[in-house]
Amino acid sequence: MTLIETDGEDLLAAIRKLLVAKNLVTEAEIAERQQATDNASPGQGAKMVARAWTDPAYKALMLEDGTKAAEAMNIPMRGMPPLGVLENSDEVHNLIVCTLCSCYPRAVLGYPPFWYKSAAYRSRAVRDPRGLLGEFRTTLPDTVKIHVVDSTADYRWMVLPKRPAGTEGWSVEQLAAIVREGDMVGVTVPSV
Ligand code: FE
Repeated sequence: MTLIETDGEDLLAAIRKLLVAKNLVTEAEIAERQQATDNASPGQGAKMVARAWTDPAYKALMLEDGTKAAEAMNIPMRGMPPLGVLENSDEVHNLIVCTLCSCYPRAVLGYPPFWYKSAAYRSRAVRDPRGLLGEFRTTLPDTVKIHVVDSTADYRWMVLPKRPAGTEGWSVEQLAAIVREGDMVGVTVPSV
């Protein structure tokens, strides 16, 4: 561990102590948030997607209010920025980026993949989204419009991908298993 990291840990501990001393948060709330962050993974978003594919009422809720839809799946959202969900269709494909830094719907997808934070991804998503998708081996018909959406500190986005053909009659568990992290960012599309 370097000196700088040690200082960072000490600083974090001091700030936590101060927040508790000033009654701004309790130790229990900090622990709850820490656990929610540690438990968050793309598997949670995938469960939401699979349910939306099989349950029209849930899909409507998800597109209306992503935060409520996550909470309906017992994903802790307290203190998290609001979650918005964008549906891919035959006409529009959504691609999520944070042009400013690395804002990501961590509550439902966990930590962002390394490329999401890269300057190359952040700039190319805006400048050349189709070329960027090509690097992820995602080819969309020219008729599909690519909608690039900027995640911010105030609002986080995730993509509801299209359910792939050939999955008729599948259980939600089977469906959730084919939904990958990149599908919910819009760099890839689910396939069977
Ligand atoms: Fe950001």
